Amino acid sequence: MRPEDPIVKHFRLVPTQQVALRKLKLNSIEDLLYHFPVRYEHAGGEGRVHALVPKTKVSLIGMFSKLEAKKLWKSRRTATEGWFEDGTGKVKVLWFNQPYIAKMTPQGVPVRLSGMVAGTPEKPYITNPEVSVLAGHESTGLFAANTDENATSLFPVYPESAGITSRWFFHALARVFESGAHKLLSDPIPPTTREQLHLPELGTALVWMHVPEEERHTQTARKRFAFEEMFVLHTGKMLERCANTHEDSFPILDAQTRVDTFLNSLEHLKPTGAQTRALTDIARALSSPHPMARLLEGDVGSGKTLVAAAAAYAAITSRPSGRTSGTLQVAYMAPTEILAQQHFESFIRYFKHLPVSIGLITGSGCKKFPSKTARGGATTISRSQLLKWVAQGEIAFVVGTHALIQKSIQFKHLALAVVDEQHRFGTAQRRALARKGDATPHFLSMTATPIPRTLALTLYGDLDISVIDELPPGRAKVTTRIIGADKRDDMYTTMRRELATGRQAYVICPRIEEPDPTKLNALMAKSAKAEAKRLQKDVFPEYVVGLLHGAMTPTEKDTAMRDFENGNIHILVATSVVEVGVNVPNATVIVIEGAERFGLSQLHQLRGRVQRSSHAPYCFLAPDTKSALSLKRLRALEKSSDGFELAEADLQLRGAGDLFGSQQWGVSDLGMEALKNPRLIEAARIEAQRVVELDPSLAKHPALALRAAATSRELHGE
Ligand code: ADP
Ligand code: MG
Repeated sequence: MRPEDPIVKHFRLVPTQQVALRKLKLNSIEDLLYHFPVRYEHAGGEGRVHALVPKTKVSLIGMFSKLEAKKLWKSRRTATEGWFEDGTGKVKVLWFNQPYIAKMTPQGVPVRLSGMVAGTPEKPYITNPEVSVLAGHESTGLFAANTDENATSLFPVYPESAGITSRWFFHALARVFESGAHKLLSDPIPPTTREQLHLPELGTALVWMHVPEEERHTQTARKRFAFEEMFVLHTGKMLERCANTHEDSFPILDAQTRVDTFLNSLEHLKPTGAQTRALTDIARALSSPHPMARLLEGDVGSGKTLVAAAAAYAAITSRPSGRTSGTLQVAYMAPTEILAQQHFESFIRYFKHLPVSIGLITGSGCKKFPSKTARGGATTISRSQLLKWVAQGEIAFVVGTHALIQKSIQFKHLALAVVDEQHRFGTAQRRALARKGDATPHFLSMTATPIPRTLALTLYGDLDISVIDELPPGRAKVTTRIIGADKRDDMYTTMRRELATGRQAYVICPRIEEPDPTKLNALMAKSAKAEAKRLQKDVFPEYVVGLLHGAMTPTEKDTAMRDFENGNIHILVATSVVEVGVNVPNATVIVIEGAERFGLSQLHQLRGRVQRSSHAPYCFLAPDTKSALSLKRLRALEKSSDGFELAEADLQLRGAGDLFGSQQWGVSDLGMEALKNPRLIEAARIEAQRVVELDPSLAKHPALALRAAATSRELHGE
């Protein structure tokens, strides 16, 4: 048996088992070895055979052997007799008057036994115990019980899956270990790293994971594999970083001076300290001959657009090196059309006094600023005209959605790509952009989702990170309240009071758990529609209630947004997919229905919508549940207005998977646990860096190279 062999080569599988293994993505013997137990059934807190106390009840976990029906010669009663064994010893077991037990009780499989201890402390035995087979170890009838198995008091329980039992894995892995296949795998963790961190080598750790003799072995093995996964991930990120330093960028000369020129040209705005610091980092990176790859993290409303505008200004006022005409170009990608439109307008405001041309390209139309006909505004132009001007380098700054990375769009000198709120914008997309010009553009990814440090280092380990940890002055703190069913009227009273003073409100309708995204849109639209109708008819007949959801056409969305911006709509009922980043300073109330369905970070982001001005804002969280855990999470929001603190709380309370909604990360449960452990992540990163620095092609680490490549592909969904 070899690790790369398909499982079917060595195991006879019934169709349901084949389906189950396929579902678990287990094809090879190696996959099987890396399919880890979720927990162990053990005697922890219960009895152990070596410490039995006569005249007490005991519950043990172990296996039976040598069960026999007998006639007891003294009393002439019938009985069943046999041995029970856990990792700590062996004890005799007796059932009186139950001769059939010998046939009924499974031998050689892990069971739980509970009964009375009899005899003396030196020679205890157990009488008339109840026996149950451990969950997941029920007999499938396929494998005969094997009485020769090493007795142990720890039994692995594998992730629950229809069609295949823990018992199957237990026996299959016993055969794999017997064959020695696990010793043929090469360890992706180099020996020096293992020694440094006192980690067991791969073969041993696999045994400890699947057939441990002691609890502490399982812990050591789990630690090793958690480290392994993070180490492999970080190695991939380090390789990407390394590749970046071998690429050419468009170096932007005097970037800092250009940034300063732009900032000084703004009349009513002084950058915050945090914006200035981020721009210092960015200016330094932009002037490098290698492309910048940077993540800019900053809470909603912290002013990331200004930072992007300043960086863009530095690029679009620079000439391509060796040329006497033309400028470098910038692409700015927003997550939705509404936001692309809004940002287009923001940039016009930031640049209107400067000689800068800006284009907007979306699925529903293209625009250009400045306009020959509309002074100070933008004109609609055809897509082909815009593409032509971009290709000739005449439009220096292009704002759009994902459409910007489509093949048909050619830039002349794309020097900087800014991506707003797209977590999945990975290496592949970056490479797609690189193909659009003669050098690799500088890359700036911006996010309002505060990412705990461990997660940021792991998922964005190939990027440098700048943080804007300060809001522009004069922002009022949002009053946040959890609203029970009995407090709804009070909430509407507050809303009405705000509306009466001319302010506006958002009502966000819940995310609905639904695996199919097209259905999800429809369901969310339905819930938003129903709520809008109800609010208009029963609660706020005197105000205009508007609607915005993902199933509307771009034009409908646009109209709704404009009406809300212009104050023609007083209350905007929206689903959570469309609203991110929307900027209407006059809105001071946000109601979030079904609040428990959102992650804390998302809620925090939603709350940021009403923190755009100095009016005292309100955020009402209206959960559909009274579950203690949900309320605990929501209470964190009442208490804290620090996005990072909330993200950290989310990570600890719900795990990393929930931080950005229900995305697939390609990170295992073990990896998710590891992300809660800053020391482990730090170690993985340092070791990965050391290995890649010494051996950038990983020529001496083929096993690691293979794993890192596979993991990067998976993580980017390629
Ligand atoms: P983000 O994209 O980080 O959520 P924005 O860039 O949209 O935030 O900025 C939010 C608001 O704050 C905008 O109205 C912007 O004009 C304003 N703003 C940004 N920086 C400053 C500053 N330094 N001083 C005052 N207002 C600012
Ligand atoms: Mg923004």
